[in-house]
Formats: sequence, C-alpha cells, structure tokens
Amino acid sequence: MDDLLLRNLTRRNFLENTARLCFLVGLSSIFPGCVKPEPSIEETRTEIEETTTQIEVNDEIGEKTEAETKPEAEDVGETGVDFEPAYLKLHRSGELKKRAEELWSVMENCQLCPRRCGANRLGGTTGFCRAPGDELVVSSFHAHFGEERPLVGRGGSGTIFFTHCNLRCVFCQNYTISHLGRGSKVNIDGLAGMMLRLQESGCHNINVVTPTHYSAHILKALDVAAGYGLRLPIVYNTSGWERLDIVELLDGIVDIYLPDFKFWDSDQSAKFSAGAESYPEMTKAAILEMNRQVGVAKPAQNGVMQRGLMIRHLVMPNDTSGSESVIAWIAENLPKDTYVNIMAQYTPAHKAYDYPELSRRITGEEYQKVVQKATDVGLTNLDVRGYWWLQ
Ligand code: SF4
Repeated sequence: MDDLLLRNLTRRNFLENTARLCFLVGLSSIFPGCVKPEPSIEETRTEIEETTTQIEVNDEIGEKTEAETKPEAEDVGETGVDFEPAYLKLHRSGELKKRAEELWSVMENCQLCPRRCGANRLGGTTGFCRAPGDELVVSSFHAHFGEERPLVGRGGSGTIFFTHCNLRCVFCQNYTISHLGRGSKVNIDGLAGMMLRLQESGCHNINVVTPTHYSAHILKALDVAAGYGLRLPIVYNTSGWERLDIVELLDGIVDIYLPDFKFWDSDQSAKFSAGAESYPEMTKAAILEMNRQVGVAKPAQNGVMQRGLMIRHLVMPNDTSGSESVIAWIAENLPKDTYVNIMAQYTPAHKAYDYPELSRRITGEEYQKVVQKATDVGLTNLDVRGYWWLQ
C-alpha cells in the first residue's frame, strides 16, 4: 500500500484546496445553522497526519478477513452492525473489480456520460469535462453537515468533492471546482484511503459528489477500500444526467442514489448547461432505474439513511427549472413516498448575471407554489427546509 492515500497530494496543495473549499463551497452560506465549523489549517494538518498513520497501520496488517472487518456500531457512525452495504457481495465475488475494469476501459474512447465525446482519457487526452483518466482530481474530503438530515445524522456525511463536471451550468456555485478543476491529483489508492478515513472519523456514508466522469475510479477505489474494511453505504450524488447503461452497471454497488432533477424543459437545459438538450429525458430514465435498484429511501431506526432514492430539485427564479412539471412527473412515475428535497437556495453565481431570468434568488411565493404542487399531487416524503432558507 505504498501509494495509498495522498501520495500525489502534497500537503501544501491539500491545505490550500481545503481552505479554498471552505470559501468556495461556502457551507456556512448554504446552511449556516447546521454546519459544523470547518477545521483550521492546523486541525487539517493533524488530520492528514492521522490519516497517513491509519493507512500505515493498514499497510502492516494487509487486507483484512471478513470477521476482522466487522465494524462496531460506533466505528461506522451508528449505521448499525447489521447493515451491510450492497457492494460487499460484489467485492467478495470479484464482480466489483470486473465492473470497475469494464468502466475503466470505456475511458479509452470515453462514453461515461451522455456527452459521449470519445476522448481517449487513458491515452492522456481530456474530453468535454476536462477530467483526466489515469488519476482523478479531488477538491476536498471531509464530514459534511449541510447535506440532507438523514445523510448527516450525528457523524456527518463523508463527502468527497470531485473536480470537473460534464454539465457546466452557467449558474454553478462551485465553478472553480467543477469548471476550472481546482483540486489535487489523487490515485486509486489515495481515493480508497479517503473513504477509509471518513469511515474512521465516524461518518455515516461515503458521499461521492459529481461522480459521473470518475465512476471507474470510484469503483476501483471502492474495491480496494472494501478489502480494508470499508462498510459504509455509497451515496451517488449526481446531477442526474446519466447514461442508463452506466447506471445499470452500478446495480448492486450503490446504496443511496442522490440525483438532481434540474430541468423539465430541454431548451432550458441546453441553454444553461452547455447544450445538454437530453438532460430531461436522460435524467428521467436514470431516476427510474435508480428507483428500480434501491427503491424508496427509508431511514434506519436511528434516522440515518442506508439505502434508497433521494431526489433533489432546485427551485429556480422565473420557473426556469419547470418545477411543477418535475414534481408532477415524480408523483406519476415513482412511489408517492419517494424522498424529494425541494431546495430554495438558488443564488446567482458564475455567469448567471448574463441571463436576466437567472439573476436573482427565488421568492417565498415561488417556493410555496412548488411545495403546494407536491402536496396536491400526493407526495408524502418532502424535505422542505427551503422555508427556513427563505426566512
Ligand atoms: S465523462 Fe467527460 S470525457 Fe467522458 S464522455 Fe463525458 S464529458 Fe466526455
């Protein structure tokens, strides 16, 4: 395990990017009342040292047996000793490794996302998303206390923020990460080490943010981490714009799907997400498949989510996202108790001010109208913390 964890992530770069993330992701500006304070630079330094120590310990003991890696409840943030993430079965059978290799080979003529731009990422070129192939670029990883409450629990959601993005929305709040790719290069063992470190620190899940263009890397790292005792559910935190056959490959690996449903209208998605005209159709197909795989999200007794589909919909000004149609589609095509987070935190960012319809926040009336629609169509599992945001 010489390469494991942060081999290519110099301490200086990591500290710079962690500090940058605090500013850019702006957790405190998203959920000021719910956010655990970000660590200071010194605390971060300590964390890296502790992480490195942890990996060295793993290096000494080698890959653990199943009995040795059975977690204690507190070790996995009280997700429960009886819980077993879906990917473990495929790890044991070798299928997880096989699927990771299958996805990896797709990067030779990259078709990992609906752009299907065909870049030979394994040969050193990059495509539309600008993501490399041999390694990946991570902006930061840490316990996140601003995600949905059933993902946060007491220990936080173990979030890994990937750089680059295949959608490149004009209003992106994290564009320096997603568009400019600011972060640090990490190899597969490094990513596996991050997963293990998040588990060690008491997080309830591994939350991979914007995973689509790094899905092959994630599966490879998951296979490594599972061998070293990872037992947390994977949260696939995606824009929703996914190829159906790629989502099908994730069957039995992902426990919690957390897709956005951003746009109802293909003209809007094309206009605001770099020509992604297929967004509504591809996202609908992907969400149906996600629901088929993991079903309705239901928390464990301690309130922490372990498996299921959780949809996010961001209400945008001037009904740019077609919110009522999105909500109606969910009610017509998915179980009525599907978890739907109706989000109100849209804030103009990046190039949003170039578009008059995007250049303001939403009003309370706009938000209320969408919530009312959700109630009218019979959705029963709504996360409407947006009211709090709009106060
Ligand atoms: S993941 Fe990136 S390189 Fe691959 S098809 Fe999509 S945009 Fe192109």
